[in-house]
Amino acid sequence: MDLKKWEQLLKMTDAEWGDYAFCREPLRNKLTFEQKTEYIRKAIESGIEQAKYLQDTYGKMDIPEYIQKLSLQVTKENAQGMDDYLVFARYNYPRDITLFTMNIDAVNTMLTQENYWEQVENVKVENMLLAHEMYHFLEETRENVYSKTKKIVLWSIGPFKYRSGLVALSEIAAMSFAKELLNINYNPYVFDALMLYPHDSERAERLVEEILRFSNGAGGNE
Ligand SMILES: [Zn+2]
Repeated sequence: MDLKKWEQLLKMTDAEWGDYAFCREPLRNKLTFEQKTEYIRKAIESGIEQAKYLQDTYGKMDIPEYIQKLSLQVTKENAQGMDDYLVFARYNYPRDITLFTMNIDAVNTMLTQENYWEQVENVKVENMLLAHEMYHFLEETRENVYSKTKKIVLWSIGPFKYRSGLVALSEIAAMSFAKELLNINYNPYVFDALMLYPHDSERAERLVEEILRFSNGAGGNE
């Protein structure tokens, strides 16, 4: 592991991770730079807002306790995902979350082997994934959650306007929600790369390079 590079990932701001998230957004070309910047900021706030809502409603508790409070059903599947895609967790409307435990076990083992727990603030990977998916539940079931209500007009004919949401906003908000609930100092997006590492370390290192291009911090734009 090129530890220096991974350290830079941990230092990236939420807004920089937002830029990274948008590089996978199918509708990114429909937005101006200013719009994108504003939407990222509001998605980050949306995640924090929903975390505060949970804490205000139920008090501060561990992630599994929130899962219970919200009556979410968690299923563990001893698999790596579906259709050749690595998947770590998935939310299905209305109340189902699936955890793909092979990937979670692999990343836990890897963090131990690389002696990397301190850097990730001893986060419980499973709880981080549960928190992320819990956000998707909240945005689907609560009123007026920004990451869901924000729509852009794709085209219009006369009085008809065709609008679409932006997937990236949901992902940015879910990460910011998990970060807030877990009370950690880095963006859990880091696990995009960390979880790939046990499966394909070279691809993971290449992903790290790619992500660092979105970092304005020291060394990010080399
Ligand atoms: Zn997600």
